[in-house]
Amino acid sequence: MNKKRLFTPGPVSIPPEVSLKCAEPILHHRTPEFQKILKGVLEDLQYVFQTSEPVVLFAASGTGAMEASVSNLLSAGDKAIMISAGKFGERWIELGKAYGVECVVIELEYGQAVDPQQVETALKEHPDAKAVYATLCETSTATRIDLVALGNVVRQSDAVLVVDAVSALCAEELRTDEWGIDVVVSGSQKGLMMPPGLAFISVGARAQKLLGQSNLPKYYFSLEKALKSREKTDTPFTPAVSLVKGLGTALQLIREEGIENVWKRHAVLASATRAGVQGLGLEVFSQAPSNVVTAFNVPEGVDGAGLVKWIRDKLGVSFAGGQGSLKGKIVRVAHLGWVDELDIYQAMSALEIALDRNGYHVEFGAAVRAAEEAIAAESAASVETG
Ligand code: PMP
Repeated sequence: MNKKRLFTPGPVSIPPEVSLKCAEPILHHRTPEFQKILKGVLEDLQYVFQTSEPVVLFAASGTGAMEASVSNLLSAGDKAIMISAGKFGERWIELGKAYGVECVVIELEYGQAVDPQQVETALKEHPDAKAVYATLCETSTATRIDLVALGNVVRQSDAVLVVDAVSALCAEELRTDEWGIDVVVSGSQKGLMMPPGLAFISVGARAQKLLGQSNLPKYYFSLEKALKSREKTDTPFTPAVSLVKGLGTALQLIREEGIENVWKRHAVLASATRAGVQGLGLEVFSQAPSNVVTAFNVPEGVDGAGLVKWIRDKLGVSFAGGQGSLKGKIVRVAHLGWVDELDIYQAMSALEIALDRNGYHVEFGAAVRAAEEAIAAESAASVETG
C-alpha cells in the first residue's frame, strides 16, 4: 500500500474542505446564490493578487490566461520583450510567435534570474516595445526573479509589464499595485490549493487602455468581454461552477491565514528544503532559488529520471524531474500550496530512502535533521524579533 503524496509544482494536494466543496451539487450560474459566491471569489482574488484592479477568471489552465495577455494587449507586428530562462519563458516566445508578435528575446541560461538592467537596456534599444513578459517563478528551473526591481525599470517606459505568476501566486511575495505590475496571470492548481481548471488574470489601468487597440484574434479569451461581465458580477460564458465554489473555500483559508503569513510559510519551507538537500551533500541548482519549488543537481552516477520514477512507484511520492535540456539532470521538490512543516520532513525522508536505493550513499536522517534545524532556527529568530 502506498499513500499518494504530491510534491510537484502543480497540481498540488488540496485541503479536504476544498474537495468537498467542489463535490457539492451543481448550482446554476445565473442565480443569486452563485452570484454571491462569485462576488466573494472576485474580491478575494484581488486580495491575493494585492490589487484594486479587476481580476477575471477563465475555465482554462494557466496557459489560457497567458494567451489572453498576448492576444488582448498586442496587435499583429507589435514588439514585445520576452524574458526567457526556462520552459515557461520559452512559452511567452511561443505565444508571441503564434500571434505574429515581434519578440525581442532576453535569453538567459537555465537557473539564472534576469538582471533588471538587461531589461532597461532592451527597453532603451526598443522604445516601441508595447510590453515586457516575465516569469516570477520559472518553475522549470526553480528560479525567482527580482520583481520589485523589474517593476521599477519597466515603469520608466511606455511598455506594460506582464507577469506569469502561475506557480508563484501565494508562494512568492507579490504586490501587484505597489510594484507597478500591469498584468498578472495565474492558475488554480498551485498556490491556491485547488484542482486544475481555472486561470486568472489581473488587468491594470495601463493594460486596460491597450484592450481597445488590440487587433489580434480572440473570442473566448476576450478580456473586454470578461471585464464587462465582471462589472455585473457575471461571466460571459458558463463558469466552472464547482471549481468556483471550491475556490471560494480555498480563498477563505488564505484569508484566514493572511497572505503575508502564506508567503512567509512558503519562504520558511523553501529554506528548510534547501537545507535538507544540502544536508545530503546535494547542490541546489538555481542561482536565485524560489519559494515555490527547490531543484537540486542529480549526483553523479544516479539516473535522475529513474530516481523520480522510483520514488513515485515505490513510495507513492511525486517529485518532478527536469524538463527540456535539464531532463535527468535535476530533481524538483515543490513546497507549494497546502503544505506544512511535517510534509517537508516526509519529502526529505523519501529523498533519503530513494537516494540510498538508487546508488547514492546517504546518512539516514541527515536531510530531515537539516530541515528540522532550519525550521527551529527560523522559529527561534521569529520569537526574538517578536
Ligand atoms: N507558467 C508557469 C511558471 C508554470 O509553472 C506553469 C505550470 N507548471 C505554467 C505557466 C502553465 O500552466 P498550465 O499548465 O496551468 O497551463
